[in-house]
Amino acid sequence: MTKDSLPWVIPSPPVPALPVLGTAGLFPVNRIFCLGRNYAEHAREMGGNPDREPPFFFMKPGNALLPEGQDFPYPSQSENVHYEFELVAAIGTGGADIRKDAALGHVFGYAAGLDMTRRDLQQQAARISRPWEVGKAFDHSAPCSPVVPASRIGHPEKGSIWLELNGKRVQSSDISALIWNVPEIIAELSRYFALAPGDLIFTGTPAGVGPVHRGDVLHGKIENVAELTVRVV
Ligand code: MN
Repeated sequence: MTKDSLPWVIPSPPVPALPVLGTAGLFPVNRIFCLGRNYAEHAREMGGNPDREPPFFFMKPGNALLPEGQDFPYPSQSENVHYEFELVAAIGTGGADIRKDAALGHVFGYAAGLDMTRRDLQQQAARISRPWEVGKAFDHSAPCSPVVPASRIGHPEKGSIWLELNGKRVQSSDISALIWNVPEIIAELSRYFALAPGDLIFTGTPAGVGPVHRGDVLHGKIENVAELTVRVV
């Protein structure tokens, strides 16, 4: 073996991936960035300021991805796991310090995702100024629909976003109500991280978040973008 082709000493981790609507190809998932409090009504329900404050970001590892078709296993160490249904932007071309007017050129497509949250652990951590990972970045915490290429649907600026829990509408808004829209998010996020192909950005959830239980079925839709169905087991 040359030093350029050394063997792995343990199995190399698989690349998480999402199907791409209308193709036989896969979208490889790198990092998962998420925005907090990006709809005014949700900021209010979380006890925060609904005004346009600078966006804040947190992350899930790429292998927290749960492609549609797989069940969401209720996670350990929590008594209060919440759904948060969100528009997801899938980065196709990376870059740092991306300008807002060039940002959409970096987006390969869009998806519908769930930012599953151990609310009890997240709130405990927040109270004592500790990091959020155990509340947000756990295994299977990022269920996501197939990616729909922007070449098919363009770059959605408006359209309803809703989630049903066991057939009952629990979240309902419009993506035009995002406090920070996709180009603004990409411009701001890329000041802190050089974005890379395969990065996903979960853009924040509307009001109406709440708990799930084993046996529940979550079904959400973002108009003209994607639908997602996930069973909690
Ligand atoms: Mn969220």
